[in-house]
Amino acid sequence: MIPFNKSYITKNEEIYIRDTLLRGHTHGDGYYTKQVTKFMEKTFNIKKALMTTSCSSALDMSALLIDLKQGDEVILPSYTFVSTANDIVLRGAKPIFADICEDTLNIDPIDIERKITKKTKAIISVHYAGVACDMDYIMNIAKEYKLKVVEDAAQGVNSKYKGKYLGTIGDIGCYSFHSTKNYSSGEGGAILINNDETLIKRAEIIREKGTNRSQFIRGEVNKYSWVDIGSSYLPSDILAALLYAQFEKLDEIQKKRKKVYENYYDSLKDLEKQEKLRLPVIPQYCESNYHMFYILLNSENERNYLMDKLKEKGISAAFHYIPLHSSPMGLKLGYKQGDIPKTENLSSRILRLPMYAELKEADIKYIIENIEKILEN
Ligand SMILES: *Cc1c(COP(=O)(O)O)cnc(C)c1O
Repeated sequence: MIPFNKSYITKNEEIYIRDTLLRGHTHGDGYYTKQVTKFMEKTFNIKKALMTTSCSSALDMSALLIDLKQGDEVILPSYTFVSTANDIVLRGAKPIFADICEDTLNIDPIDIERKITKKTKAIISVHYAGVACDMDYIMNIAKEYKLKVVEDAAQGVNSKYKGKYLGTIGDIGCYSFHSTKNYSSGEGGAILINNDETLIKRAEIIREKGTNRSQFIRGEVNKYSWVDIGSSYLPSDILAALLYAQFEKLDEIQKKRKKVYENYYDSLKDLEKQEKLRLPVIPQYCESNYHMFYILLNSENERNYLMDKLKEKGISAAFHYIPLHSSPMGLKLGYKQGDIPKTENLSSRILRLPMYAELKEADIKYIIENIEKILEN
């Protein structure tokens, strides 16, 4: 069986994990947490990064930081992972689902503008497949209507938009280091605060159960206490040790994924010419991290047929998000099937192919040959 996904394990994970145990500091903000934080801030040019237990918890923190309340509205794509929306609903605010662009499957800025009301407080831009949203357009809308921008860059670690790293453009950025992502600590994430000093201070407090413990550890106050709401969003230093080994291979992992992506792309061009499928698009303004390789079939039936036949041949391909507005929870929130047409259409035709750094050329060849054969009929 060719798996859909596989983490890339380098040599140093075990060594660093053992080292954390020997250092005797396995809780949050230990030696390796400091190392990965420093690494990210320097490499990705981030004003302030804080490691979290997941991208979901980074998104939850972001909702607290922008003070989402009942009555507020936040615009986000319907075509995304549930965590993009949960943080909004958890604060009692309302997710306003927008449609996506045909080319990148990223949120459509024209639809964002259409959906702005007096209640709109923020926009969450999701960089699907590690391909950047049209951030200039989104940031301009945000400026005009005085909205906050949170980037869900869960899939976008080490991707760029016009030379800037994803996650560093909006007010807040969120990363994921889940094992399905390019760089992984099993479970993990980070929140990036990109300009506002008061948000940085508050993020430290929210992440430490609503206490000013971070200031205490730096010696800025002589005892720490409960000063705001918060929770425990710190990952264990063992996870940071794992991630540090991955970051040492940042470019190597990206290069390997690029090779897989390009191999797929070149091999499937002919089928695109024959209009049997459509290939993914990376706009000029974006440098991708090659998080995902997907194809779009002509119909849901063709997609499901291809997916099933590939499975019979030992190849795991996968569809992706059920649009959130049409999920059971979306329906409970008052949305209905048919509300967001382009999203419904595209999500019914997408098929993601196996994608990981160590996917062998022979395996890709086998996958391509099978796709060609299956689509012939
Ligand atoms: C993976 C993912 C998340 C959640 O990341 P976790 O680290 O598992 O919480 C959120 N948003 C998007 C777009 C994702 O792909």
